[in-house]
Amino acid sequence: MIQIFLSYFLQKPHDYKVKERFFKMASKDYKYIENTNGSYYVDDSCIACMACTQIAPKHFIMNEDNYYAYVHCQPQNSAETISTQEALDTCPVNAIGDDGNSSK
Ligand code: SF4
Repeated sequence: MIQIFLSYFLQKPHDYKVKERFFKMASKDYKYIENTNGSYYVDDSCIACMACTQIAPKHFIMNEDNYYAYVHCQPQNSAETISTQEALDTCPVNAIGDDGNSSK
């Protein structure tokens, strides 16, 4: 098992996207197209647990079929950023990302 792990990384030690997927970090390369432009996004590892939509319902909603969540409104002030960040921290599969480009 360790051999597989090491060979996986030694083959592509420079590939950040591979590491993102392996360690389950949210990746903007895999974010849903419904995400509104801005810092926060949900990527395709969402398991539709709805935790984020309960914690920050103003910012996260489920798609029509409830298969995944996405960001429909970026936080506009510090209070909203706190609730959005709480949703990010709570996500059980790290599907929520923050690329830090918003004006927090
Ligand atoms: S908390 Fe994470 S896994 Fe759950 S619905 Fe939100 S983005 Fe998806």
